[in-house]
Amino acid sequence: MSSTRSGPRLPHDIPDPALLLAWYDRHRRELPWRAPPGRRPDPYRVWLSEIMLQQTTVPAVGPYFERFVQRWPDVAALAAASLDDILQQWQGLGYYARARNLHRCARAVVERHGGAFPSAVAALRALPGVGGYTAAAIAAIAFDQPEAAVDGNVERVVARLYAVAAPMPAAKPRLRMLAAGLVPEQRAGDFAQAMMDLGAAVCTPRRPRCVLCPWRTACAAAANGIAEDLPMRAAKPQRPLRYGVAFWLTRADGAVLLRRRPETGLLGGMVEVPSTPWRAEPWAFAEAVAAAPAPARWSPLPGIVRHGFTHFQLELAVVAAQTTEAGEGLWSAAGELGRHALPTLMKKVARHALSASATAGHATASNSGSSPASASRTGAKERR
Ligand code: SF4
Repeated sequence: MSSTRSGPRLPHDIPDPALLLAWYDRHRRELPWRAPPGRRPDPYRVWLSEIMLQQTTVPAVGPYFERFVQRWPDVAALAAASLDDILQQWQGLGYYARARNLHRCARAVVERHGGAFPSAVAALRALPGVGGYTAAAIAAIAFDQPEAAVDGNVERVVARLYAVAAPMPAAKPRLRMLAAGLVPEQRAGDFAQAMMDLGAAVCTPRRPRCVLCPWRTACAAAANGIAEDLPMRAAKPQRPLRYGVAFWLTRADGAVLLRRRPETGLLGGMVEVPSTPWRAEPWAFAEAVAAAPAPARWSPLPGIVRHGFTHFQLELAVVAAQTTEAGEGLWSAAGELGRHALPTLMKKVARHALSASATAGHATASNSGSSPASASRTGAKERR
């Protein structure tokens, strides 16, 4: 933090919630899940939007939210839906554990609470997929409870308002406490949304527009010219790299072999192109083929599919083969892959395999046999 010889400058005022609420009344964002001024928000829409907005931006969520509420207008309708339908509609939003929890939560609201969301934070937190932030946001926005919903936007506003110089994430408990101290008894729901809007539109990560801020004279970071430096970030650890090999197996009729992942864990319940486990060591071709879902004349496709998960980066080599066996398992026509709940990574694998097969004729070439030598030359391990 920069300071003068006599220490950091103090702001002139203390943050007044009424000033922020007055700003919100003039500048609130129109969002598909927001109730118009003076109308009671629908807890179902508040909950659905908050789950979708975890890890995803407002513009990206908009069309998904509209589709969901059109298809499942209330929590009972969503609880009665099949998980496959929900995963299908969720495609592209990522973090699929949220979609599975969405379904579990809808069922829990119907079974435990007769289809009405509870208003207390403790009862909301007991629902699947509802953590501390989401419970506070639903309690505040849907039920006007005086709760502080502290997401990344709000953390940034509070860190600047009070010039909290401790780095994230260690500063989080302090920021939550400071945020809780700002929440007014009246209009707590509007206040929660006003904080989010201020962080999204005015107190932005870069170049905050302090001249437009209702709390400018109360802001310690603005008084000291350090807004853009806050909140402080600890250096990010590098994401480790993992390797795998995907198996693109086609039948003579063009159908592709898929499989469903286990319900729990990464991409749980999603449909995928079969692959080896993903691990820290690259796979040798022969070793990978030994883990293939069916015996066939496997041939490596050129190139690599890369994908970033939250905690690691993945590099998938793709090997292809044709089989004359009808074969058990989940077979899909290549043109109908979009009907399955394929995660983004697997869509990349499919695109890669289809274009590589089309340009190099690998899928068909493999049918006529590729020599172990040529396989070795283009195998996953050798290419690196
Ligand atoms: Fe953020 Fe600037 Fe407002 Fe402070 S004055 S809260 S830094 S926008």
